[in-house]
Amino acid sequence: MLPSPPMNHSSGAGPSHVPPQVARGERPQQIVHPDWVWVDGRLERGRAVGIDAQGRIASIAPISGPSTLRLPGKALIPGFVSAHSHAFQRGLRGATERFAAAGEFFRWREAMYALVERLTPDLCYELSRETFAEMLTSGITSVGEFHYVRHHLPKDGSEGSEDLRYAFDASVLAAAKDAGIRMTLLHTCYMQGGFGTPLAGGQIRFRTRDERDYWDRFDRLVASAHPATQAIGATAHSVRAVPIDAIQRLHAESVRRGCVFHMHVEEVRKEIEDCMAAHGKRPMQLLLDRLAIDRRFTAVHCTHTSAEDLARFAQTGATVCLCPLTEGNLGDGICDVATIRRSRGAIAFGSDLNSRLAPTEELRWIEYVQRVRHEMRGAVIDANGDCGAALLSIGTSEGARSIGVDAGEIAVGKLADFALVDLQHATMLNWTPETFASHLIFGAGTSAVCGVCVGGAWRIRR
Ligand SMILES: [Zn+2]
Repeated sequence: MLPSPPMNHSSGAGPSHVPPQVARGERPQQIVHPDWVWVDGRLERGRAVGIDAQGRIASIAPISGPSTLRLPGKALIPGFVSAHSHAFQRGLRGATERFAAAGEFFRWREAMYALVERLTPDLCYELSRETFAEMLTSGITSVGEFHYVRHHLPKDGSEGSEDLRYAFDASVLAAAKDAGIRMTLLHTCYMQGGFGTPLAGGQIRFRTRDERDYWDRFDRLVASAHPATQAIGATAHSVRAVPIDAIQRLHAESVRRGCVFHMHVEEVRKEIEDCMAAHGKRPMQLLLDRLAIDRRFTAVHCTHTSAEDLARFAQTGATVCLCPLTEGNLGDGICDVATIRRSRGAIAFGSDLNSRLAPTEELRWIEYVQRVRHEMRGAVIDANGDCGAALLSIGTSEGARSIGVDAGEIAVGKLADFALVDLQHATMLNWTPETFASHLIFGAGTSAVCGVCVGGAWRIRR
């Protein structure tokens, strides 16, 4: 027997609570009528959502007429955002879990470099398309693809012809477009193998010749991206892969252009030790001292960042992107989330190496690692003390802000990017409007997500 959604709710979270939102001059092309809609951090009943021809939300209003899409037994929530992904690394899924002895991070990196060396544009396309398609199935509608494998170069180590340079860019752009996911392609600058050491082996495929080459390529990517669903952001891979003077100039130019800027920061202790030896400062300290960091900046991981540096960073309005399943898989360590939350810093999540694609699980583990580490509960809560709602906001609006896409909320004017939750799924049995977000994140998996919409284009599993 299928469980029934509860019908009599006394929370006051009914349609009268939120006034209708209607954009002037926009005529909805679709009127969508699910049983419930996630608006302003809670579930509302009896709302119809209008979508205009540009794939944006044109209206959210009480149901007053026929719909073009009736979705009984479903809740409409913003689509999840993975703010940090390396799509091709899905090719390592299950392949790095056999150990001769207890290993560590850099042994995994050798396996990743071996995959990089056998990557062709076709294989890059296939792996990326599989990853993006699986993201959509799991409810992820936008991805920040941190793209650093660029050149399809001959195995003899020569530079190769010009048309092989950046050959992988077209593979990733086409894979995202064909899969139907929204993507910010995070164009990565990678100049050196470590502090003051040249690129070697597979790293040649990541190479940025100089800053002029970087921005030339950036402009070409902007020109070739699909205008409706693709944008380009800037990144320096890490303080070990780009000299700090170049990072400073790249970041200043990204601010001038108004685009987002991402970096890996302090994922492993060795990066901190090497940076201390090269600069006498920790990576985050160095970045805070040299860059005018603002809300467009995202630092990925911050696993070993000190409380003092994290508080300084959070107060700039910038985002920390956590990747709990990847950090767990690689044995990186645990970020000091309590300090970020105390400093009112933003948090996003990333599926990173894509060994598993499950946004509810990523969000659940942001909270669970803190519980296990500190023997407490409720590290991530909103103003009402609601952990599930706070995690849902991390997985949607905060992620969207991190990668610079105008989505992540169901509000008029935002992009119509949604995930659809099947309220009759076995894992949702006994949900209530008050427990919905926590029920979904702590109790359900990707199987309760039965569809997505990207810019008004629906994919619904029947
Ligand atoms: Zn990464």
